Amino acid sequence: MVIQGCFCGSGISFDQCCQPIVEGNHKATTAEALMRSRYVAYVVCNVDYLIATTHSSQRENYSRDEIAYWATSNQWQRLEIISVTQKTVEFKAYYLDTNNQLKVHHEHSRFVFENGEWFYLDGDYFENETI
Ligand SMILES: [Zn+2]
Repeated sequence: MVIQGCFCGSGISFDQCCQPIVEGNHKATTAEALMRSRYVAYVVCNVDYLIATTHSSQRENYSRDEIAYWATSNQWQRLEIISVTQKTVEFKAYYLDTNNQLKVHHEHSRFVFENGEWFYLDGDYFENETI
């Protein structure tokens, strides 16, 4: 299957961008790359990857069922990166909810680098934003 451009919107082909990261063949080398790959993991519903890239101190806050539900009940449209620092990424993820309404998940996420890998730590949400 040929996919034109990665789901994360990088403009790079999927197999050169997030696919090898989400499938475990490459580690994300930056917080932004991890963020992009985690968005893609929601698109393709790779729950294992989402758990594995959540920092160990936070994993108990997430359930596999909730992640899978959030991933599959929404139709992910696109990712917009707003700003990036070494350890933070602000982004907007656009999706159609179960009522086919276009919604945005706007988050300022924090990441940590530990034992040679980036992990998602936590984030601040911008609630109820309109588009
Ligand atoms: Zn990508």
